[in-house]
Amino acid sequence: MHIKKVESFILHIPVTDSQISDSTHTISHWGVVGAMITAEDGTCGYGFTGTHAHLPSDQLITRCIDTCLAPLLLGDDSDDIERLWQKIARQPALQWVGRAGITTIAHAAVDIALWDLKAKLQHIALWKLLGGQVRDRVRAYNTDIGWLSIPDDQLIRGAQQAVADGFTGIKIKVGSTVERDLKRLRSVRQAIGDDITLAIDGNGKWDLADCLRFCHAAEDSHVFWFEEPLWYDAVQSHAQLARSTSIPVALGEQLYSVDAFAEFIGQQAIHWLQPDVTRMAGVTEVLRVIELASAHRLPVAPHAGDMSQIHQHLNFSRSTCTVLEYIPWIKDSFEEPALVVDGYYQAPQQPGASSTPTQQAWGKFRKPLS
Ligand code: MG
Repeated sequence: MHIKKVESFILHIPVTDSQISDSTHTISHWGVVGAMITAEDGTCGYGFTGTHAHLPSDQLITRCIDTCLAPLLLGDDSDDIERLWQKIARQPALQWVGRAGITTIAHAAVDIALWDLKAKLQHIALWKLLGGQVRDRVRAYNTDIGWLSIPDDQLIRGAQQAVADGFTGIKIKVGSTVERDLKRLRSVRQAIGDDITLAIDGNGKWDLADCLRFCHAAEDSHVFWFEEPLWYDAVQSHAQLARSTSIPVALGEQLYSVDAFAEFIGQQAIHWLQPDVTRMAGVTEVLRVIELASAHRLPVAPHAGDMSQIHQHLNFSRSTCTVLEYIPWIKDSFEEPALVVDGYYQAPQQPGASSTPTQQAWGKFRKPLS
C-alpha cells in the first residue's frame, strides 16, 4: 500500500503521582512523541517513542520525522518494512549525523507506525503478524511501586499491595546511597517474602566500587537482577561486576543497536537483555536483538519506554521474552490499553500494535510541534 501522508505528534501525559524520581531523573509527565503514517486507503498507523516530556527536545524528534524521514517514505510501499528500515538507517546524510540519539528515536516512531499499519491492513494484532502466540498470558512485574522518591513506609505498603493485586514480581529503584538502598531492599524483601521476584534498578548512577559494595551486602536478599548498575555503555565495568557477584546483570534500555548488545554478550557482561522499541530503531531492530539473545540462550525483558503498549506483542510472540515491565501511566490514553489481570498481561485483540491514541488523549494532552 502506498504511503500517502506522514505526520508527527507530541502528547504529554501525567504520571500517576504528581512526580516521580529514580537515581537520575525526576519527571511529572511521560512524553508520547510519534508518527502517524497514512496509507492510500486512509488506514493510519501510529508509532511513538517515550520521552521525559521536555518540549524543546521532543520538537527535535518531530522535526526529524517531518523533515528527514517523511520524504524517504512518501509514495513508497508501506509493506516493505525491512527495506524501508534500511532506506532510513543507511541514508548517507542521516547516517553521517547520527547512528544514535534523535535520529534513531525518530526512526523508532516511524518503524513502529509501519508495523502498526501493516497489522491493521491485515486486520490482526501485531503479535499475530509476528508469528502468533507462544503463551496464554505474559508475566508482569510492577515497577511503579518502587520509585526512589517514595518514602520507605509507603514503599513497603506499595510492594505488599502489588503482591495482593496478584503481581509475582516487583522492581525497586536504587542509586541513592548504598546504606539507604540496602535498608529499603531488605525491608521490602522481608515484607513480601521469598517467593516474590524482586529486582533492583540503579539507572546507571553508581560506580563499580559502590556496586561491588552493594552487591556483596545484597546477595542474601535474593535479587532477581541488578538493572543498569553502571554507566550505560561501560562494557568492561559490567563484565567485572558480573564476574564478582551472583546477582544477574540486566541492561539495554539506553542501547541503540544490536551491535551494542553483541558487545555486552561477547564480554560476558549481561545476563538479561532489555531492548526498547522506542529507543532502538523500532520493532525491526529489537527483533534482531531477540534473535541474538535466543542464539545465546539469554532471556529478554523489554524495557517499557512505551509502558508496554507495543512490547506486549513481542512477549506474546517470542518465547525468549519471558517477563514484561508494568507501569500504568499512559495506558488509558490508547484505544486498547495494555491489560494486566492478577499480575499477567492479557493478549491484545484489536488489529495493530496497540499504539493508537484515543481522541480524548488527543484533545487533552497534545502539544505544539513548534
Ligand atoms: Mg530501568
